[in-house]
Amino acid sequence: MSKNSQQSTQIVSLGRDKKYTKGIINPPVFRASTVVFDTMDDMRFAIKNKTNGELFYGRRGTPTHFSFQEAIAELEGGAGTALYPSGAGAISSALLSFLKSGDHLLMVDSAYEPTRDLCDKMLAGFGIETTYYDPMIGEGIRDLIKPNTKVLFLESPGSITMEVQDVPTLSKIAHEHNIIVMLDNTWASPINSRPFEMGVDISIQAATKYIVGHSDVMMGTATATEAHWPTLRENSYLMGQTTSPDDVFLAARGLRTLGVRMAQHHKNGLEIANWLKNRPEVDHVRHPAFETCPGHEFFKRDFTSANGLFSFVLKQGNLKSVTAFVENMQHFKMGFSWGGYESLILGVFGIDKIRTATQWDSSKPLIRLHIGLEDTQDLIADLEQAFERYNAVK
Ligand SMILES: *Cc1c(COP(=O)(O)O)cnc(C)c1O
Repeated sequence: MSKNSQQSTQIVSLGRDKKYTKGIINPPVFRASTVVFDTMDDMRFAIKNKTNGELFYGRRGTPTHFSFQEAIAELEGGAGTALYPSGAGAISSALLSFLKSGDHLLMVDSAYEPTRDLCDKMLAGFGIETTYYDPMIGEGIRDLIKPNTKVLFLESPGSITMEVQDVPTLSKIAHEHNIIVMLDNTWASPINSRPFEMGVDISIQAATKYIVGHSDVMMGTATATEAHWPTLRENSYLMGQTTSPDDVFLAARGLRTLGVRMAQHHKNGLEIANWLKNRPEVDHVRHPAFETCPGHEFFKRDFTSANGLFSFVLKQGNLKSVTAFVENMQHFKMGFSWGGYESLILGVFGIDKIRTATQWDSSKPLIRLHIGLEDTQDLIADLEQAFERYNAVK
């Protein structure tokens, strides 16, 4: 794993051109709906340059947006970044920007549950057919490609079950068939993998998670290659996707500390996962940095670091014992949206019901953790007590 040596400098500097900041450290909040012009010439100039940083109309963005878009695009290594009011909005808009009735979509079986629901509940209604595939399918993806396959959607590692995908191999095969490759890259954040070097065409972030980093803003980003950026940008614009400059300000502020937060989440997460691995109650740890995680070899090859989010599987248990585990924690809070500074815990049931291309053995309960920035000895003490409560029920 090689770390991009200029990354910390990039995180601090990107998007902070004087044309956005006017010399202030953080690009200020520019709120706008209408933009007024003095002359017809000025207006014509704005119309002509509305997609390359000239103020035109609020929905096209303000310097607050342009600065953050530029920073994310450069960090991910794409040509341009569109902003959305949530990660789910980024996923639906990316898919709807490129799919039409009669098209076929290949969707990873371990996708974030609302992404699955979008395919089954909305895209199906539009006449877009989805085939789910095993995240570990690799070369086998060839057999699922149809003449009308338009998009291959990846999420690596997968939600909850954490399978790491062979992104370069899947992208290469997709491109042989003119298929657009989209990746939900939220776990890596814009700094722990290089999606465009692995052949991805559109990289999606739930910025809500680590970019914002403080659990107080919903936002999504989708970054595209030069070839796909105009379509993504214009179709997202047509769907009316826009974000509040106040939220963008907070996301941009979060971004500046992403590197140091991520390093600490990574360190704390590894420490807790190593401790869990040695507990007699634990069947295995599903953390990409561990051999027991499917696709661990791709993690080692394609990622520069992990973060604080992983799962572990218990040898046995049921709703009652898992409830005893996750309730009454001192530091871990029960909640969904990870990536903030705080530790979170979830007992996840019914995974078998959101998998159709693969099997999941639900007899062994899974617990998902997000390791925050607390002192790890306090988190371990918290988990020790959780195991005591769990063992008392079992
Ligand atoms: C949270 C999450 C999303 C959705 O993001 P929101 O901002 O909550 O809509 C999408 N993909 C992944 C992998 C996520 O974890």
